[in-house]
Amino acid sequence: MRDLTQGGLEHLALNWATVRERWDLAQTIEGCARHGIPGIAPWREPVQAMGAAAARRRIKDAGLRVSGYCRAGLFPAADAAGLQAAIDDNRRAIDEAAALGAECLVILGGGMPAGSRDLPLARRQAQDGLAAILPHARACGVPLAIEPLHPMYAADRCCVSTLKQANDLCEKLDPYDDGGLGLAIDVYHVFWDPELEREVQRAGAAGRILAFHVCDWLVPTRDMLLDRGMMGDGVIDIRRIRGLVEAAGYAGLIEVEIFSRDDWWRRDPEEVLAVIAERYRTVV
Ligand code: ZN
Repeated sequence: MRDLTQGGLEHLALNWATVRERWDLAQTIEGCARHGIPGIAPWREPVQAMGAAAARRRIKDAGLRVSGYCRAGLFPAADAAGLQAAIDDNRRAIDEAAALGAECLVILGGGMPAGSRDLPLARRQAQDGLAAILPHARACGVPLAIEPLHPMYAADRCCVSTLKQANDLCEKLDPYDDGGLGLAIDVYHVFWDPELEREVQRAGAAGRILAFHVCDWLVPTRDMLLDRGMMGDGVIDIRRIRGLVEAAGYAGLIEVEIFSRDDWWRRDPEEVLAVIAERYRTVV
Protein backbone atom coordinates (compact mmCIF):
# COMPACT_ATOMS: atom_id res chain seq x y z
CA MET A 1 0.00 0.00 0.00
CA ARG A 2 2.68 2.50 0.96
CA ASP A 3 4.98 3.32 -1.90
CA LEU A 4 8.30 4.60 -0.67
CA THR A 5 10.04 4.93 -4.01
CA GLN A 6 10.90 8.41 -5.26
CA GLY A 7 10.58 9.86 -1.79
CA GLY A 8 7.22 8.23 -1.14
CA LEU A 9 5.14 11.27 -2.03
CA GLU A 10 3.45 9.81 -5.12
CA HIS A 11 -0.05 10.10 -3.65
CA LEU A 12 0.30 13.38 -1.80
CA ALA A 13 -1.79 16.43 -2.69
CA LEU A 14 -1.97 19.88 -1.15
CA ASN A 15 -5.21 21.75 -0.62
CA TRP A 16 -4.50 25.39 -1.42
CA ALA A 17 -6.31 26.54 1.73
CA THR A 18 -3.39 25.13 3.75
CA VAL A 19 -1.19 28.00 2.53
CA ARG A 20 -3.86 30.50 1.49
CA GLU A 21 -2.71 33.31 3.76
CA ARG A 22 0.78 33.44 2.20
CA TRP A 23 0.62 32.00 -1.31
CA ASP A 24 -1.62 32.64 -4.28
CA LEU A 25 -2.47 29.82 -6.66
CA ALA A 26 0.56 30.32 -8.94
CA GLN A 27 2.94 30.27 -5.98
CA THR A 28 1.24 27.16 -4.63
CA ILE A 29 1.58 25.33 -7.95
CA GLU A 30 5.29 26.18 -8.07
CA GLY A 31 5.71 25.21 -4.42
CA CYS A 32 4.12 21.81 -4.92
CA ALA A 33 6.35 21.11 -7.91
CA ARG A 34 9.43 22.20 -5.96
CA HIS A 35 8.61 19.96 -3.00
CA GLY A 36 7.73 16.91 -5.11
CA ILE A 37 4.04 17.06 -4.17
CA PRO A 38 2.20 15.70 -7.23
CA GLY A 39 -1.35 16.90 -6.50
CA ILE A 40 -3.12 20.15 -5.77
CA ALA A 41 -6.67 21.08 -4.77
CA PRO A 42 -7.48 24.67 -5.73
CA TRP A 43 -10.41 26.76 -4.49
CA ARG A 44 -12.82 28.63 -6.69
CA GLU A 45 -11.83 32.22 -5.93
CA PRO A 46 -8.18 31.98 -7.08
CA VAL A 47 -9.16 29.82 -10.06
CA GLN A 48 -11.77 32.34 -11.16
CA ALA A 49 -9.21 35.11 -10.73
CA MET A 50 -6.67 33.30 -12.93
CA GLY A 51 -9.19 31.77 -15.31
CA ALA A 52 -9.81 28.02 -15.23
CA ALA A 53 -8.11 27.34 -18.58
CA ALA A 54 -5.00 29.27 -17.57
CA ALA A 55 -4.96 27.51 -14.20
CA ARG A 56 -5.17 24.16 -15.93
CA ARG A 57 -2.20 25.02 -18.16
CA ARG A 58 -0.07 26.09 -15.23
CA ILE A 59 -0.98 23.01 -13.20
CA LYS A 60 -0.36 20.69 -16.13
CA ASP A 61 2.94 22.35 -17.03
CA ALA A 62 4.06 21.81 -13.42
CA GLY A 63 3.22 18.11 -13.82
CA LEU A 64 0.50 18.14 -11.16
CA ARG A 65 -2.88 16.44 -10.85
CA VAL A 66 -5.95 18.18 -9.47
CA SER A 67 -7.12 15.98 -6.58
CA GLY A 68 -10.32 17.97 -6.19
CA TYR A 69 -11.89 21.35 -6.75
CA CYS A 70 -13.16 23.26 -3.70
CA ARG A 71 -16.02 23.69 -3.44
CA ALA A 72 -19.71 23.72 -4.30
CA GLY A 73 -23.02 22.48 -2.91
CA LEU A 74 -24.33 24.77 -0.14
CA PHE A 75 -27.82 24.23 -1.50
CA PRO A 76 -30.32 25.21 1.23
CA ALA A 77 -32.00 28.60 0.88
CA ALA A 78 -34.96 30.50 2.28
CA ASP A 79 -36.84 30.84 -1.03
CA ALA A 80 -37.09 29.54 -4.57
CA ALA A 81 -34.81 32.23 -5.99
CA GLY A 82 -32.12 31.30 -3.50
CA LEU A 83 -32.42 27.60 -4.30
CA GLN A 84 -32.13 28.32 -8.02
CA ALA A 85 -29.14 30.63 -7.51
CA ALA A 86 -27.34 27.83 -5.68
CA ILE A 87 -28.05 25.38 -8.49
CA ASP A 88 -26.84 27.87 -11.11
CA ASP A 89 -23.67 28.46 -9.13
CA ASN A 90 -23.09 24.72 -8.83
CA ARG A 91 -23.39 24.35 -12.59
CA ARG A 92 -20.69 27.01 -13.00
CA ALA A 93 -18.51 25.19 -10.47
CA ILE A 94 -18.91 21.98 -12.50
CA ASP A 95 -17.85 23.83 -15.66
CA GLU A 96 -14.80 25.23 -13.87
CA ALA A 97 -13.90 21.79 -12.50
CA ALA A 98 -14.15 20.33 -16.00
CA ALA A 99 -11.97 23.09 -17.44
CA LEU A 100 -9.42 22.44 -14.69
CA GLY A 101 -9.38 18.70 -15.24
CA ALA A 102 -10.28 18.15 -11.58
CA GLU A 103 -10.69 14.56 -10.44
CA CYS A 104 -13.78 15.57 -8.46
CA LEU A 105 -15.80 18.55 -7.28
CA VAL A 106 -16.14 18.71 -3.49
CA ILE A 107 -19.75 19.18 -2.40
CA LEU A 108 -20.87 20.48 1.00
CA GLY A 109 -24.52 20.06 1.89
CA GLY A 110 -24.87 23.57 3.27
CA GLY A 111 -26.39 24.73 6.55
CA MET A 112 -29.78 26.08 7.50
CA PRO A 113 -30.80 29.45 6.08
CA ALA A 114 -30.74 32.35 8.56
CA GLY A 115 -33.64 32.12 10.98
CA SER A 116 -34.48 28.52 10.19
CA ARG A 117 -34.66 25.70 12.73
CA ASP A 118 -35.65 23.14 10.12
CA LEU A 119 -32.65 20.86 9.66
CA PRO A 120 -34.70 18.13 7.91
CA LEU A 121 -35.77 20.73 5.34
CA ALA A 122 -32.13 21.75 4.75
CA ARG A 123 -31.32 18.09 4.19
CA ARG A 124 -34.12 17.70 1.67
CA GLN A 125 -32.94 20.83 -0.14
CA ALA A 126 -29.40 19.46 -0.28
CA GLN A 127 -30.70 16.21 -1.75
CA ASP A 128 -32.86 18.05 -4.30
CA GLY A 129 -29.95 20.32 -5.24
CA LEU A 130 -27.67 17.36 -5.82
CA ALA A 131 -30.32 15.66 -7.94
CA ALA A 132 -30.64 18.84 -10.00
CA ILE A 133 -26.93 19.14 -10.80
CA LEU A 134 -25.99 15.47 -11.17
CA PRO A 135 -26.93 15.23 -14.88
CA HIS A 136 -24.73 18.24 -15.72
CA ALA A 137 -21.85 16.80 -13.69
CA ARG A 138 -22.14 13.50 -15.55
CA ALA A 139 -22.29 15.24 -18.91
CA CYS A 140 -19.12 17.16 -18.04
CA GLY A 141 -17.31 14.11 -16.63
CA VAL A 142 -16.91 15.72 -13.20
CA PRO A 143 -17.64 13.34 -10.30
CA LEU A 144 -19.39 14.98 -7.35
CA ALA A 145 -17.74 14.16 -4.01
CA ILE A 146 -20.12 14.68 -1.10
CA GLU A 147 -18.01 15.58 1.94
CA PRO A 148 -19.74 14.98 5.26
CA LEU A 149 -18.55 17.56 7.80
CA HIS A 150 -18.30 17.07 11.56
CA PRO A 151 -21.74 17.61 13.17
CA MET A 152 -20.54 20.82 14.85
CA TYR A 153 -21.07 22.42 11.42
CA ALA A 154 -24.59 21.04 10.87
CA ALA A 155 -26.28 24.40 11.48
CA ASP A 156 -24.17 26.73 9.38
CA ARG A 157 -22.14 24.74 6.85
CA CYS A 158 -23.12 21.19 6.19
CA CYS A 159 -26.30 19.33 7.04
CA VAL A 160 -24.64 16.11 5.87
CA SER A 161 -22.69 15.03 8.94
CA THR A 162 -21.89 11.35 8.60
CA LEU A 163 -20.61 8.88 6.05
CA LYS A 164 -23.84 6.96 6.46
CA GLN A 165 -25.88 10.01 5.44
CA ALA A 166 -23.61 10.55 2.44
CA ASN A 167 -23.78 6.88 1.43
CA ASP A 168 -27.59 6.96 1.77
CA LEU A 169 -27.72 10.06 -0.45
CA CYS A 170 -25.59 8.35 -3.10
CA GLU A 171 -27.85 5.30 -3.08
CA LYS A 172 -30.97 7.43 -3.34
CA LEU A 173 -29.67 9.63 -6.17
CA ASP A 174 -27.70 6.96 -8.05
CA PRO A 175 -29.67 3.77 -7.46
CA TYR A 176 -28.26 1.97 -10.50
CA ASP A 177 -24.60 2.92 -9.91
CA ASP A 178 -24.45 5.04 -13.03
CA GLY A 179 -21.55 6.87 -11.42
CA GLY A 180 -20.59 10.49 -11.11
CA LEU A 181 -21.47 10.59 -7.43
CA GLY A 182 -19.47 9.59 -4.38
CA LEU A 183 -17.79 10.68 -1.17
CA ALA A 184 -14.87 12.75 0.02
CA ILE A 185 -13.64 11.19 3.25
CA ASP A 186 -11.87 13.64 5.54
CA VAL A 187 -10.35 12.20 8.70
CA TYR A 188 -11.06 15.43 10.60
CA HIS A 189 -14.79 15.06 10.06
CA VAL A 190 -15.26 11.32 10.46
CA PHE A 191 -12.61 9.94 12.83
CA TRP A 192 -15.07 9.96 15.76
CA ASP A 193 -17.77 7.99 13.94
CA PRO A 194 -18.45 4.55 15.50
CA GLU A 195 -19.68 3.41 12.07
CA LEU A 196 -16.57 4.59 10.25
CA GLU A 197 -15.30 1.16 9.25
CA ARG A 198 -18.66 -0.12 8.03
CA GLU A 199 -19.48 3.02 6.05
CA VAL A 200 -16.02 3.22 4.44
CA GLN A 201 -16.44 -0.38 3.33
CA ARG A 202 -19.93 0.39 2.05
CA ALA A 203 -18.68 3.36 0.01
CA GLY A 204 -15.74 1.36 -1.30
CA ALA A 205 -17.87 -1.60 -2.32
CA ALA A 206 -19.91 0.76 -4.52
CA GLY A 207 -16.75 2.37 -5.95
CA ARG A 208 -17.76 5.67 -4.42
CA ILE A 209 -14.67 6.87 -2.56
CA LEU A 210 -13.56 9.84 -4.66
CA ALA A 211 -11.25 11.72 -2.32
CA PHE A 212 -9.36 11.31 0.96
CA HIS A 213 -8.38 14.33 3.08
CA VAL A 214 -6.04 14.40 6.04
CA CYS A 215 -5.07 16.72 8.88
CA ASP A 216 -5.38 16.14 12.64
CA TRP A 217 -7.74 16.85 15.55
CA LEU A 218 -6.04 18.85 18.27
CA VAL A 219 -6.92 18.50 21.96
CA PRO A 220 -8.03 21.00 22.94
CA THR A 221 -9.39 22.47 19.71
CA ARG A 222 -9.54 26.25 20.23
CA ASP A 223 -11.57 27.24 17.19
CA MET A 224 -14.34 25.27 15.49
CA LEU A 225 -13.14 26.16 12.01
CA LEU A 226 -9.58 27.40 12.03
CA ASP A 227 -7.64 25.21 14.46
CA ARG A 228 -6.94 22.05 12.54
CA GLY A 229 -3.71 20.28 13.31
CA MET A 230 -0.79 18.99 11.27
CA MET A 231 -0.84 15.23 10.85
CA GLY A 232 0.79 13.68 13.90
CA ASP A 233 0.05 16.56 16.27
CA GLY A 234 -3.42 15.36 17.31
CA VAL A 235 -5.42 12.29 18.22
CA ILE A 236 -6.46 10.81 14.86
CA ASP A 237 -5.01 7.43 13.91
CA ILE A 238 -4.57 8.57 10.33
CA ARG A 239 -2.68 5.53 9.18
CA ARG A 240 -5.45 3.24 10.39
CA ILE A 241 -8.10 5.24 8.53
CA ARG A 242 -5.92 5.36 5.41
CA GLY A 243 -5.67 1.59 5.67
CA LEU A 244 -9.46 1.27 5.80
CA VAL A 245 -9.92 3.59 2.83
CA GLU A 246 -7.28 1.84 0.72
CA ALA A 247 -8.53 -1.62 1.71
CA ALA A 248 -11.93 -0.43 0.44
CA GLY A 249 -10.37 0.16 -2.97
CA TYR A 250 -9.33 3.81 -2.95
CA ALA A 251 -6.13 4.40 -4.89
CA GLY A 252 -6.29 8.16 -5.46
CA LEU A 253 -4.45 11.10 -4.01
CA ILE A 254 -4.25 11.90 -0.29
CA GLU A 255 -4.96 15.56 0.20
CA VAL A 256 -3.63 17.62 3.10
CA GLU A 257 -6.13 20.29 4.13
CA ILE A 258 -5.24 22.37 7.20
CA PHE A 259 -7.11 25.50 8.31
CA SER A 260 -4.89 26.90 11.05
CA ARG A 261 -5.21 30.62 11.63
CA ASP A 262 -2.85 30.90 14.60
CA ASP A 263 -0.22 28.36 13.66
CA TRP A 264 0.37 26.93 10.17
CA TRP A 265 -1.16 29.88 8.30
CA ARG A 266 1.41 32.12 10.00
CA ARG A 267 4.42 30.08 8.99
CA ASP A 268 6.51 30.28 5.85
CA PRO A 269 4.82 27.94 3.32
CA GLU A 270 8.26 26.51 2.47
CA GLU A 271 8.40 25.22 6.04
CA VAL A 272 4.76 24.07 5.95
CA LEU A 273 5.30 22.00 2.80
CA ALA A 274 8.51 20.46 4.16
CA VAL A 275 6.72 19.43 7.38
CA ILE A 276 3.79 18.05 5.38
CA ALA A 277 6.14 15.89 3.30
CA GLU A 278 7.89 14.64 6.44
CA ARG A 279 4.65 13.88 8.32
CA TYR A 280 3.14 12.27 5.24
CA ARG A 281 6.02 9.81 5.25
CA THR A 282 5.93 9.14 8.99
CA VAL A 283 2.28 9.22 10.13
CA VAL A 284 -0.05 9.12 7.11
ZN1 ZN B 1 -11.87 17.99 3.53
